[in-house]
Amino acid sequence: MNSEQNDEVSDTTDDDSSNADDKIYICENLKFSASLRKRGMLTQRAKEVDRKPMTFLESIYLWNIMKGMGITISHLFKRKVTIQYPEQTRTFSKVFRGLHVLNRDAEGRENCTACGLCAVACPAEAITMEAAERLPGEENLYREEKYAAKYEINMLRCIFCGLCEEACPKDAIYLSETFAPANYGRKGFIYKKEDLLIPHPINDKEAYEKAVGDKPVKN
Ligand code: SF4
Ligand code: SF4
Repeated sequence: MNSEQNDEVSDTTDDDSSNADDKIYICENLKFSASLRKRGMLTQRAKEVDRKPMTFLESIYLWNIMKGMGITISHLFKRKVTIQYPEQTRTFSKVFRGLHVLNRDAEGRENCTACGLCAVACPAEAITMEAAERLPGEENLYREEKYAAKYEINMLRCIFCGLCEEACPKDAIYLSETFAPANYGRKGFIYKKEDLLIPHPINDKEAYEKAVGDKPVKN
């Protein structure tokens, strides 16, 4: 046997001995965890499984079926946690943040001046807008000299954090008590200015009051 063969033999012997050590170590670990499991020490919830053969009554499951039915019937007399939506709706929390509304002042003029602060504050980059100059004769439409000709919110991006409302210096945007309804396509979740603008408080008083809800509007 040459020196290379000797080295190979000694390597193999080393590998064998380390494998044997590993096996012993794993066996010890298994034994230890088995003993812990037996004593219910791993989760404190260990339960011995009953291996006794079933009696005739147990084997037809009658008692267990009756127990299950008892639980089901008991729920008939408990207070129901579900509601018949959309006929019934839940009362939202006072701090609920729902769908955005672009606000008007008491005369029905749009508050937004397209300053872009809401878009800058938005962590989801969900808001885009285009500004335009108010023309003479449009004073009854827009409160400020500059207004948002285009204003869009991507509701798929929005996380309803309310930072846009916080950032707005004109009280032009707020999060209402309604939520974005389901839709079949992505495009349906891009809310344009027409979708967001609150109804006119003078020309369409009823729709305006409905849109405002219980939330106090700052003008
Ligand atoms: S609620 Fe938050 S995420 Fe949604 S548009 Fe406003 S700032 Fe952006
Ligand atoms: S909603 Fe408010 S913050 Fe956003 S562009 Fe209009 S005025 Fe500026």
